[in-house]
Order: sequence, then structure tokens, then C-alpha cells
Amino acid sequence: MGLPLQSIVVKCKQEYKNDEDPLGDILSMFRASPFSLNMFQQCPRQYKFQYIDGLKDIYRKPRPYFTMGNHVHATLKDFLSVVPVDERNLSKLENLLREKWRRYRKGFNDREDEKRWGGKALNQLRRFAQNQDISGTPFLVEDYHSVELTDTILLKGRIDRVDKEADGSLHIIDYKTGKVPEEINQTQLHIYALILSKKQNLPVRKASYLFLEAGEFRTLEPTAADLERAASYVIDLVNRICMEREYPATPNNYCGTCDFLEICPRKEEAVKLTINEDELDF
Ligand code: SF4
Repeated sequence: MGLPLQSIVVKCKQEYKNDEDPLGDILSMFRASPFSLNMFQQCPRQYKFQYIDGLKDIYRKPRPYFTMGNHVHATLKDFLSVVPVDERNLSKLENLLREKWRRYRKGFNDREDEKRWGGKALNQLRRFAQNQDISGTPFLVEDYHSVELTDTILLKGRIDRVDKEADGSLHIIDYKTGKVPEEINQTQLHIYALILSKKQNLPVRKASYLFLEAGEFRTLEPTAADLERAASYVIDLVNRICMEREYPATPNNYCGTCDFLEICPRKEEAVKLTINEDELDF
């Protein structure tokens, strides 16, 4: 029988530095997010480099898909929360993107590359303006949420948008600027639903990915059992992270997006597995 979770997490916290949490005063808790948990699942060594060794600021590189994705997210956030309804139209949306793009344009190989990514962003926003209801005001837009999942685990996540449906229930929408994958990550949506259900009294009936390039929704209707499973998943994974001692490098299709490729102990294999940027499903 291993240590009880409480002891494991406290022990873990003595060894770990985690600088991402806006609630910096809750120092005694292990901080987990869908992003960090997914990283550990994908490659424990990448997780170690980022969250334990704190090497993110030394090795982080600007990437075209992140620059593009961040600008599209920020544009949609402002469009739906700041721009008055009667001023919302395609040209306003495009102008917002251009303003943001001018302020930060890192990660591109050259001018042509930047143009290509800019074109992708514009196409996604055009599709959004054509196919989505742009007259509504979301219940919440792009907000960081933190909830105490247990006495020792602070669960946090950034939720792009939450709509209030006609029946008063909530609908989580996570924008994706990459391609539609064969299978969606249901766990991530369930974790978002878990977080939101702990912060709001209204029921969370739907959780969706909106793939902006394809203009397609993938929607789940999370049940109470899904949320319980999501909570167990987080607790088990935090337990595993705290018990882990080796943090093996596990080369995968996303190695090309890993900031630590140059110091990866399995760099040669990792380089070979890297997939085309257009195939990424962020
Ligand atoms: S390059 Fe790949 S295998 Fe190496 S640390 Fe990064 S994600 Fe892991």
C-alpha cells in the first residue's frame, strides 16, 4: 500500500516548483490543469523540464501556430465581449486581428510564412462570422478558473467561452485553430465542465470544441458520472506525477512543438516523429 494522497502531494510539493498559478498564495497545493496533465500523459520528461525544472523561460521559442492561435482567440474574445452588437461585422473582426498581429508577429520563418499563417487566421474568422451567431453576448469569455478539487489539488483551466442557453444551462466552448482530429479529447472537456460546475450554480449541459478552420462543432453532454470520472482522473494522475521518479522521454507526434527538443535525451527519435505543422490539432 502506498502513501495516502495527501502525504504524497505534500511530499511532492516540497520538491516541485510551479510558477503558473495566478493564486500564488495557495502555496501548499499541487496545481494541475488540463494542459499540464496532458503534457505529462504525452511525455513525462517534457512535463519535468517545464514544471519541475522550470526551464520554460530559457527554452521557449515562438511558434507560428501559437502566435496565430493566440491572436485568433484574443480577437474572438474582444469581438464578443467588447465590441457592441450593432458594430459587429466581418471587417471589424478582421481589423481586430490585424491590430493584434501588428503588436506581436514572432515565430515565422519569413514574410511568406507569416502571410500564410495570417491567411489561415483570416479564413477562420471569416468562417466564424459567416456561420456563427455573432449577435449574442457570452455568459463568460476567456477566463482563468481555479477550484480546489481536494485539500491538496488546485485544478485550474482557461475556458475560452461559456454561453447561457435558453433553458438557463451553460455551454462550454473551446476554440480550436488546428485541424479536426479523428477522435476528440473528451477528458479535457469533462475537466472544464468539472471546473465550471464547481464555480457556478447553473447546470453545465454541453461542452464543445469549435474547430474554426472547418467551422465544425464537436459537442458532448457531460453527465454527473463523467464529472466524477474526470475528478478521479485528475487525482490519479497527480498521484502518478508525485510518485514518478524517472520522468521518461516518450517521443510522440508533438515533439516538433516541444521547447526542449534540443536537450531531449531521445532527440534523434523525437526529430523523426515530428509531424507537419498543418496536421496539428491545437
Ligand atoms: S522532444 Fe519529445 S520526447 Fe523529448 S522531451 Fe520533448 S516531447 Fe518528450
